[in-house]
Amino acid sequence: MIHYCPSCWAEVPGGPKCPACGADIHALAQESYEEKLIRALNHPEPTTPIRAATILGELRSRAAVEPLINLVYSSSDPYIQEAAVIALGRIGDPRASSPLRRWSSEGALRVRLAAQQALKKITGE
Ligand SMILES: [Zn+2]
Repeated sequence: MIHYCPSCWAEVPGGPKCPACGADIHALAQESYEEKLIRALNHPEPTTPIRAATILGELRSRAAVEPLINLVYSSSDPYIQEAAVIALGRIGDPRASSPLRRWSSEGALRVRLAAQQALKKITGE
């Protein structure tokens, strides 16, 4: 099994400190489930952020709204962007409505369609 530093996502051998960034891996392991999921949005394996975004959406995680918005901006993977957009629609926070309006008219088709659906859920548009 490969271990990743929960702070910088470098591959680590499994010790208490990350050799790449010096993060205290054991302390980070004490984070809440929600914090772990938000951190997993930046995981290098593409299936992990998709799963994390989906769960955060199901949890209606308000704390995840900004990180999910940032993920859509920073990712170039339309499947990750789509998962984040769907999660934003589920969470239903109005902070997402302005970026969703933008994504509903530009970018990959699957992202646009997801953004249109999410926007409907948030604003009724
Ligand atoms: Zn690290």
